[in-house]
Amino acid sequence: MLSWLKGIAGDENAAALKRAEPIIPSVNALSGAYSSLSNEALREKTSEFKERVAKGESLDALAPEAFAAVREAAKRTLGMSHFDVQLLGGAILHNGDIAEMRTGEGKTLVATLPAYLNALSGKGVHVVTVNDYLSRRDAVWMGQVYSFLGMSVGVLNHEVSYIYDPTHSEKDRERDEKGSFKVVHEFLRPCTRTESYAADITYGTNNEFGFDYLRDNLEHDAAKLRQREYHYAIVDEIDSILIDEARTPLIVSAPVSDAGNLYERFASIVRDFKHGEDFEVDEKRKQIQLTDQGIERAEKALGIENIYTDAGIKYVHHLETAARAKALFEKDKDYVVADGQVVIVDEFTGRMQPGRRWSEGLHQAMEAKEGVPIQQESRTFASITFQNYFRLYEKLSGMTGTAKTSSEEFYKVYGLNTVSVPTNKPSTRIDNEDLIFQTEHGKFKAIARRVKELNEKGQPVLVGTVSVEKNELLSVHFKQEGIPHEVLNAKNHEREGEIIAQAGRKGAVTIATNMAGRGVDIKLGGNPGSKEMYEETKALGGLFVLGTERHEARRIDNQLRGRSGRQGDPGETQFFVSLEDSLMRVFASDVIKRVMGTFKIPEDEPVFNSMITKSLEKAQTKIEELNFDSRKQVLAYDDVLNIQRQSIYKRRKTVLVGREEAVDAELERLYASDTATMKTIEDKKNTLGKEVFYTGVRRLLLQTIDLLWVEHLETMDYLRSSVNLRAYGQRDPLVEYKREGLELFRAMELSYKEQVARLLPQMEEGGFAKRESQDLKEVHQSARSITQEGGAPLRVAQKIGRNMKVTITDGKETKEMKYKRAESLIASGKWKIVGQPPQEPK
Ligand code: ADP
Ligand code: MG
Repeated sequence: MLSWLKGIAGDENAAALKRAEPIIPSVNALSGAYSSLSNEALREKTSEFKERVAKGESLDALAPEAFAAVREAAKRTLGMSHFDVQLLGGAILHNGDIAEMRTGEGKTLVATLPAYLNALSGKGVHVVTVNDYLSRRDAVWMGQVYSFLGMSVGVLNHEVSYIYDPTHSEKDRERDEKGSFKVVHEFLRPCTRTESYAADITYGTNNEFGFDYLRDNLEHDAAKLRQREYHYAIVDEIDSILIDEARTPLIVSAPVSDAGNLYERFASIVRDFKHGEDFEVDEKRKQIQLTDQGIERAEKALGIENIYTDAGIKYVHHLETAARAKALFEKDKDYVVADGQVVIVDEFTGRMQPGRRWSEGLHQAMEAKEGVPIQQESRTFASITFQNYFRLYEKLSGMTGTAKTSSEEFYKVYGLNTVSVPTNKPSTRIDNEDLIFQTEHGKFKAIARRVKELNEKGQPVLVGTVSVEKNELLSVHFKQEGIPHEVLNAKNHEREGEIIAQAGRKGAVTIATNMAGRGVDIKLGGNPGSKEMYEETKALGGLFVLGTERHEARRIDNQLRGRSGRQGDPGETQFFVSLEDSLMRVFASDVIKRVMGTFKIPEDEPVFNSMITKSLEKAQTKIEELNFDSRKQVLAYDDVLNIQRQSIYKRRKTVLVGREEAVDAELERLYASDTATMKTIEDKKNTLGKEVFYTGVRRLLLQTIDLLWVEHLETMDYLRSSVNLRAYGQRDPLVEYKREGLELFRAMELSYKEQVARLLPQMEEGGFAKRESQDLKEVHQSARSITQEGGAPLRVAQKIGRNMKVTITDGKETKEMKYKRAESLIASGKWKIVGQPPQEPK
């Protein structure tokens, strides 16, 4: 960044702080009065505030009083009173910005201020955490503040929901001592999802919020809807959630029956493929390119002349996917195999992602590569990116220790400003320059030596690694040196939270992937510790953070450094890097080649070379840009779908929960110019009676929307991979995707209209319910044929036998061929089947 620009960015931050600052004197001025209120009077403030909001008073105007009430309640319940900088952070969050506050500044407590204030509107506030454990911890820990003030708190966990239950006073002491890492489960009462969302404040992970949104939009029973409004969200560790996890969309899917063994076949074909001969790898962009030789080998194995013409897109896609699985994904780094399943490891955070699957067949390809059972190919029922989920909120805000290096992305994608909040006490942490080693082995030896020294004098050490694999490798080195240590792999958050809380004890050595225990505070001397234990570790120099490799993103390195030196404590950080680290290999290879061999020193002695340090940081900036690009790409495609999704979901919602007039309006929108159908509707209303009619018609509309939408998603998926192949033809795939996506959407609209019109007359005698299954079947079948008549490409793979003859046309040419040949042509969107597809003989 140019220095004058930096000046502006600095000024902007100063200006933003200045705007938020008046909150401090306003709250402080009220503190005296609030501390003299009785508990009851303090609690009554909530109903008073709620009334004032209902009467039109703005939340901004109420902020000082609401903050003062929360601060006083926190003092009485938690024994913590918000620091002035925490009030500042609260005001920034209330503004809808990102508050960058360093680790240990107490962001959990900060969130109570804007959460309470915004919940006064009665519309619900969502607080988003990085894992289930932290959502429970925060709800139980902060729950007493909210509950003291008469606000309810919900928790969303994977497949279970809770309501904060304050009635366990006998457990209160345990919570006071260990609340920052231990969840006292007695305070959580299981409840329904809907109940949890109905709470004033709901804690949960990004995955749970996102999946619930998708589930709600597949719901057929209005009483079961989970979510209310998308009013206000506070995202904790916002960089982890909105940046690191934003490359994989959330997908709700269900298995389809005819998975086939293509994955195994292609996995075995590429098994002996060689890098540089059969395919080339672009490590920077995480892509592969098959060479002519590779393609020929595959054709030979498949026994065909030309994979592009004889087999089509589907096979090419399978071949490429199998090769990607082989070449780009490394076991125990990018994924682990556990219990016969391939589990994704988030490359940034090192967290395992059970339940998440790579899309477009990549996951099945990985399963085939590892020889574990291939989970049935599944059908997407709904999907969304985190970017588009969080954009649903009227107001979004977030907090983290590390946002500044990504402030551009936060602004461009989410419209969020990042404001750095000063620390409560000045930082005294020492951040050392990197030590550089020639080999990884030499580096590990030097690390083990250093940790042994530190450990012998008793200074606690936190060793950060980038992967589970390196974690285990280091552990071996430490064992050889006889250093007692704990290893954390981000596998069990709750247990690891308890361990990491003790990482500041005298003599503790903890090896952790960078996400392990994130969010849990490391107190010097342990937790609960004592004044003496604290002072003793402080005198030893505080927590020593040792990084064993620079991460792809500077943000993650800063996150690791931030574990040390909380609240003005002493502390020290040091990164050890080697010329063999992958970051170096991929991005700084030229520099390395130039300097290699010029060092005449042992491998475990550091070399000093300013060129290397500089190129490391350049490499990080470069990767950050590439990753930003790839997230932008995911988003650009999802944006096309997002417009369609919004329109479908809006209509769905009207039909599901709208009043009868709204349903009438929808019917009128469809059939205003179709007098015959309008007449059918009127007749039905009269003969069936309103109640039967509306129940039936709602169901009919919903089922039709869903069936068509699911098929549409599938077609869009195919379109997505086929436009990418077309990129070779010099066309911009995104433009093609937009254009054809719109055509497909229009075709779907038309099918919807025709489909409903066709089924309406059947809504009679005996009511709809009895004939439901029949109708469902018809909806399903006719939906297929209608889309075909409408000209939209449609995958009919499940219905037609692979050896049956079909006639297909692209509008100009017509040909007859076996269905297995025609399949990929149809999927490409250019060809469609003429007439009714033949039925499989029984
Ligand atoms: P962060 O999320 O910012 O890293 P946490 O919310 O985990 O920080 O809090 C770190 C520690 O600071 C906790 O142990 C908490 O008890 C303590 N703390 C936070 N705010 C205050 C306060 N106002 N007074 C005293 N202790 C506080
Ligand atoms: Mg935190």
